[in-house]
Formats: sequence, structure tokens, C-alpha cells
Amino acid sequence: MKNKEKKLKEIINHLKSTGFVFQGSEIYGGLSNTWDYGPLGVLLKENIKNLWWKEFILKESNNYGLDSKILMNPKVWEASGHVENFSDPLIENKINHKRYRADKIVEELFPEINAEAMDNKKLEKFIIENVKEYDGSKTNWTDIKKFHLMFETSQGVVEGSKNKVYLRPETAQGIFVNFEKVQRTMRAKIPFGIGQYGKSFRNEVTPGNFIFRTREFEQMELEYFVKPENSDKAYKYYVDKTTNFSTKIIGIKEESIKLRVHEKEELAHYSKGTTDIEFIFPFGWGELMGVANRSDFDLKNHEKQSGEKLSYRDHITQEIYTPYVIEPSIGLDRLMLAAIIDAYEIEEDGRIVMKLKKDISPYKLSVLPLSKKYHSKSAKKVFEKLIENGISVNYDEAGSIGKRYRRQDSIGTPICLTVIDETDSKGIITIRHRDNMKQETINIDDLEKYI
Ligand code: ATP
Repeated sequence: MKNKEKKLKEIINHLKSTGFVFQGSEIYGGLSNTWDYGPLGVLLKENIKNLWWKEFILKESNNYGLDSKILMNPKVWEASGHVENFSDPLIENKINHKRYRADKIVEELFPEINAEAMDNKKLEKFIIENVKEYDGSKTNWTDIKKFHLMFETSQGVVEGSKNKVYLRPETAQGIFVNFEKVQRTMRAKIPFGIGQYGKSFRNEVTPGNFIFRTREFEQMELEYFVKPENSDKAYKYYVDKTTNFSTKIIGIKEESIKLRVHEKEELAHYSKGTTDIEFIFPFGWGELMGVANRSDFDLKNHEKQSGEKLSYRDHITQEIYTPYVIEPSIGLDRLMLAAIIDAYEIEEDGRIVMKLKKDISPYKLSVLPLSKKYHSKSAKKVFEKLIENGISVNYDEAGSIGKRYRRQDSIGTPICLTVIDETDSKGIITIRHRDNMKQETINIDDLEKYI
């Protein structure tokens, strides 16, 4: 096995054995490429979501939250262009009947070539001419077919095309269709934003690389509405803000990410600019999140299709215009994966430590009685007090203290508090740090201040 694959496998095994992630429906043999988040995964995910909400909604006084539905009127997806255009270029090797995303083959084998800037005809010609062997087999390629990524289902008691609905492939459209309502009810003045997080679904041709690409995933998206002439400035602001979110807030190392500015040829016709923020995954650089200037494309299309006015009247000048929109779009599962990979270390002596930033670690603290027999009563008191203060804290009394420290290191808990003999007699408690394994004692009355 290649080293790169080994690293990802090792991390997946670790996450499975510590309760971050389980294979979906495992007792029935699983369902391919589905992963359930276990108790620790849920805590990590909630922390990231809450930080996003704080940074992109609460801290920006002009931004508002929303929770729109997964199921929407199918006309939404006609207007947005998804019914017609949301597809990937599928190519099949006739020799072994395996199917692939044509653009991903080119990206993988010819990283210097910009596959996203090639249309399907160009991609097809390029692959037929240049890829004679792939995935351990000789090749005989079919033409490229457009593979539609929308998940379909039917609503109500009668099946049939009338009841066909789609599971949303992005959360953004739920925002556009509520643009006028949010603006009016919140008396919002441009520039303002609407953001939400939630599930999205795409029938991906080639899901895989663990939770990097799955058919059901979560997104955190903001649509920031601006006057067209101010869109460049807002775009730059959100490229910076989104980049800083991944590094300064989530704690990913600066050297593990890079920005990729899309070239003119690969931009959608309506897009005035797109920047991807990529992360170095064990399987190579991959998109973590993107920021796009989508112009007035979405609002104009929904206005046309619905017949409802989706323009904005400036409250001072009375000028009426359709705002441009800047969209920072973040994949929550991918961001989790990146944060974990970036933090995961095995030290020379075999110690596994996840150096997660404390703000995202599942537990901020673990309370450990040095001896279960003598110290658990006092330790439980400390635990309960911390829980009352709203801190995500864990209590662990089983096994030797050394083993318990190792377990907390391996799940990313930054600090262990050990209750010792002197906790009752002298009111002191031991603090043990994950990253350097240093220990110190402090007075228990100073604990809250310390934390
Ligand atoms: P890709 O090129 O990897 O398919 P995309 O450009 O189609 O991604 P967007 O439509 O820009 O992705 O979606 C915004 C974000 O949603 C992405 O940056 C990514 O983090 C996340 N995302 C998209 N598709 C998936 C998926 N299948 N599984 C997990 N996350 C996804």
C-alpha cells in the first residue's frame, strides 16, 4: 500500500476505534460510502458549526440566519439551472466496465492541465488520445455522458412525475428564494447576508476518500448581497475571512492550505470570480471550501421563473437594482476531515495525539480521579461543577492514569484535571497538558479563572 493511503487508513481506523466515525449500516454490511458520526464526531462537528455561526452570522451584524428545507418546489431547481446542468462528465472503460469522472482522471494524471476549463468534447478527445492505461487496466473509452447528480424522490401518496421532488444539492437556493422575506422582515439594508447550514445530497459518480466525497453531506453557506459595484471588495473580504476561518478559528496550519483562483475559462458564465481554498489531504490537494462572486444570476433567474420581484430599493437614493451575491461555501465534513488530518500525530514512542485547537476538540477537559477507589467522589464534584458552567467535559475513571492520559491525547482533549489526595486535604488539583505532557498543580478555587 502506498504511504499516502496508509496514513488515511490509519486515521480512519483510529476514528472508528475511538468513537468519532462508524461505517454506515455496518451490521448489515454497510452502505457504500456512508459514514455515521459517533459521540465524539458529533461533538467535533457541532463545535465547528457553532464557530461558523458565530463568525459568519453573529459577528457580522448585517448577516442573518436561516433554516430552509431540504425538499423544495422543483421549479427552484429548474430556475437555478440544476435540473438542466448539474452533471458530471462520466466516462467508462469498456474493458472492465468501470466508470469514472473524466475531469478527475485528467486532474490526477496531468496535474499541470486545467481539466475544469475543458468542455466534455475536449476532455473526451484528450483522454482517448492520452490515457491508454488506467486503474490497473488497459483502456477502451466510451464517449463522455453527462451524469445527472440530483437525487430524486417522490412526495405524497401517489407516485409519478407530478410528485417528483429533489433532495437539495446545495443549501444556497433555499436562501435565494427567501431573499425578499428576510430583507423585508429584518428591514435589512444592502449589504447584508443570509446564511445557513444543513444537509445536501449529490449522486456523485465517484464518492470516496472517506468523508471527503459522500452522497449525503453538510454545507455551511452564506449568501452576501451587495451593490454590484461593491462586489469585488466584498469578494476579497470573504476570501480572506473564509481562509482565516480555516486557519485562525478552526486551527488548520497555514502551510496545509493554499488558494486556487479559477481562471477565466473555468468560471461559470455568470461568475465574476471564484477562489477555492484547498487542503493537502493524504490523497493530494483537494477543495475544502470556495468563495464565489455569483453576480445577479440566481436572483434574476428566480425572479424570471417565479414572477416575484427580487430586486432591492435603496432606502436613501430610491434606486432599484438586483444585488450581486458573494458566496462563501464550506463543506462541513471536509473541514472536519482536514482538521483531524492536520492534528493527527504519532510520536516516536507511539503516543497518538490529536493536536486539535481547543475550540473544536470534542472535550475541552477530562476529569480523572487518580484512584477510582479514593478520589472518585471529589472528582465527580469537580466534573459536575464544570458541566454546570457549560463546558464540554468528560469524566473517566477506568484503568491506569497513564492509559487514561493516552486516551484523552488520542481524542484531542487539551487538558486533563486529576483529582489527587491533596485535592480534599489542601484543595489542589493536577493539570496535565496534552501537547507537552507537562503537569502542574493549581488551587481548585482558581480553576474557573484558569480555564
Ligand atoms: P468538487 O469539485 O469536489 O465536486 P464542488 O466544486 O462541486 O466540489 P461546491 O459545489 O462548490 O463543490 O460545494 C461547496 C463545498 O461543499 C465544497 O467546497 C465541499 O467542501 C463541499 N462538498 C461538495 N460536494 C461534496 C461531497 N460530495 N461530499 C462532501 N462535501 C462536498
